[in-house]
Amino acid sequence: MADMRKVELPSGEQVPALGQGTWHMGEDRRRHADEVAALKLGIDLGMTLIDTAEMYASGGAEEMTREAIAGRRDEVFLVSKVLPSNASRAGVIRSCEASLRRLGTDRIDLYLLHWRGGVPLAETVGAFEALMRDGKIRHWGVSNFDTDDMEELLSVAGGDAVQTNQILYNLSSRGIEFDLVPWSDERGMPLMAYSPMNQGSLGRDRRLEAIAERHDATPTQIALAWVLRQKGVVAIPKAVRESHLRENLAVA
Ligand code: NAP
Repeated sequence: MADMRKVELPSGEQVPALGQGTWHMGEDRRRHADEVAALKLGIDLGMTLIDTAEMYASGGAEEMTREAIAGRRDEVFLVSKVLPSNASRAGVIRSCEASLRRLGTDRIDLYLLHWRGGVPLAETVGAFEALMRDGKIRHWGVSNFDTDDMEELLSVAGGDAVQTNQILYNLSSRGIEFDLVPWSDERGMPLMAYSPMNQGSLGRDRRLEAIAERHDATPTQIALAWVLRQKGVVAIPKAVRESHLRENLAVA
């Protein structure tokens, strides 16, 4: 296994700086075997943080993940997400239990609110706390929160136990550098960068091609390296092609 750089969560737990995404996986039976094999290879290579969600393929991505982690649950740091429409107290608990069944495990390592909806944050945080007491999740966090949302979360009882904010961050989406990045940095709040190569499109960027040539790398690798260069940032690219997984590992 590779010696993967780690990012420390506020709880003190260390997670790999490079993980694996699963959006658009589990949607098509014809791709199923390749997707399971890709996640398994990624784990072998040290990309042991796996990001999924109840939303992805309506649970299909979690079911696919179950196959990839079968027999090696303890090697993996499992992240899943609850939809804002399920973010009520009863809804969060129901969603988490359904995710646990699909994932074939007794615990999720990090459970995120996928984005902010109409349910008061205090109610969702209360549900996360109940799940932690029951050992069904080990940590919780949020996703797609802006700085004001984070401030509000910290003002809610128990809100300061948030472990991360998973956000869109890549070379073509840098708006968060104005406020959320410095805000998070000051508070030691790790960010988890999703779509680090802008869903693959940065691989076709002419300016990155020129830089990549100088570094004997691909444009996608340069885009990923740019995200990974920052301390306190975890990147979760999605890759099914074996060559992509190996190129991403080389970046880390
Ligand atoms: P991404 O990781 O930026 O891009 C994925 C695309 O890049 C795939 O088409 C993949 O192809 C390709 N790719 C991967 N490695 C490559 C390489 N070395 N060279 C060339 N192409 C490469 O996009 P994403 O899937 O949107 O984001 C990653 C993960 O973040 C998701 O899977 C999901 O887990 C999470 N996410 C979270 C949210 C949220 O709201 N919280 C939103 C979006 C995404 P192959 O698959 O064919 O290898």
